[in-house]
Amino acid sequence: MTSTLKADLELFNQLVEVLLNEEATKPVAERIKAEELYNTLDLSLNESPMLDQAYKEVLRDVLIATPKTATNLFFNQLFGGRQGKAILGDLLAVLLNNSMYTYKVAGPQVGIEQEIIRKSCDLVGYGAGSNGTFPTGGSMSNYMALMMARDKYDLSIRTNGVMKRLTVYTSKESHYSNAKNASFSGIGRANVRYIDSDHYGRMIPSKLEAQIKTDIADGCTPIYVNSTAGTTVLGAFDPIEDLADICEKYKLWLHVDGAYCGAVIFSEKNRHLLKGMERSNSFSFNAHKMLGTPLTCSIILVKDKTDLSNSFSNDAEYLYQTDGDDFNLGKTSFQCGRRNDALKFWTLWKAVGSTGLKNIVDHQFDLADVARAYIRNNSDYKLYSFDDSISVCFNYKGIDANKLCTALYEEQVTVVGFGAFGDDEFVRFVTINANNSPEDILNFFKVMEDFVDKHPELLA
Ligand SMILES: *Cc1c(COP(=O)(O)O)cnc(C)c1O
Repeated sequence: MTSTLKADLELFNQLVEVLLNEEATKPVAERIKAEELYNTLDLSLNESPMLDQAYKEVLRDVLIATPKTATNLFFNQLFGGRQGKAILGDLLAVLLNNSMYTYKVAGPQVGIEQEIIRKSCDLVGYGAGSNGTFPTGGSMSNYMALMMARDKYDLSIRTNGVMKRLTVYTSKESHYSNAKNASFSGIGRANVRYIDSDHYGRMIPSKLEAQIKTDIADGCTPIYVNSTAGTTVLGAFDPIEDLADICEKYKLWLHVDGAYCGAVIFSEKNRHLLKGMERSNSFSFNAHKMLGTPLTCSIILVKDKTDLSNSFSNDAEYLYQTDGDDFNLGKTSFQCGRRNDALKFWTLWKAVGSTGLKNIVDHQFDLADVARAYIRNNSDYKLYSFDDSISVCFNYKGIDANKLCTALYEEQVTVVGFGAFGDDEFVRFVTINANNSPEDILNFFKVMEDFVDKHPELLA
């Protein structure tokens, strides 16, 4: 067994070489048309085992053909790049293969997860009664927040189900998981109120309050506000302080969805964007976005840890047999068996310190400044996004953004997405990859401009 594992890990190292070389020479993977996928790669599963050499070759082919998210020409998603120390931690987590529900099975990994949660709660400004957990992602964090809001309003809902018409609030620019979560929780998609955003993409507090008043007058019961720290398109930050005033007045749960940009808690320079966050009831961020850990590494922090256990703890005698609730993290998680997502974040944080995390975050804002300055100084561009954001939204020579991004992808030039705000549609370029330098950012523009020069039909 050990010798096969060693051989497998040797093969792993060979494949790492292949992948890194490939990325260096070809930062954008050759695209296989979806309809040709099964004819191009041998993905079939068969009765007989595959011989060593053929096995290696198929693994190599799959690696080479897979979209490369860590290179300096990938800007399509709200993650990118690689933090080596985090990869190290994640590989170790795979090797250890613990499950995070009990101290008996996870041992020191419990302390590692709790230390991250403790330090992060301190940065948000939550007190000693706070805690948190690592859900599967930002969508699940939003879901857990909504469940806690529902149960905080009325604990008996856990037993009896939702009997009243409850309403929840978020901005038009918030993440789409809010709608799904309303459906899962028994609140209903029709009872999500999407509040208008201002010119900068931030939820308008006066519109929120007006909607709450209307709903109360209509016999509804408002329970929850989901605010966003880094909206998916513009990267805007809702005004948490003003929203907290309203939530306190009407006794609503306030969640800060910082999946995209909540990691600005690590930056003294940018933390002002989250002013008032300590007044929220829960706060989430994805370390796999701004901090560059491998997917997924999502954290939800809860100001009052009783709310977490009220909604998520369940007795299970077969499982919780030793060590007490504070060390049995399954008492406050959604899942039963749970992957160790904490170790990769801890190996990174331990290696670079909080100062290193601050630098990662600040660097992304600096790169966004570089991109915005380039756009502002070039009359072929129009800028649609704003300062204090790592999403840079623009149009180039009036070219339809959908057409341009699709052509860049299909021709394997660079991978970047498009988005819309109000009536405008534009390229959404994100500076989330902290491995990039200012030169990489300028290179993106050059690569895109050269492509357009060669494809005048795009201008038509
Ligand atoms: C990415 C994102 C999410 C979803 O997070 P997942 O980990 O992909 O589920 C939720 N909210 C915001 C604001 C996001 O940017």
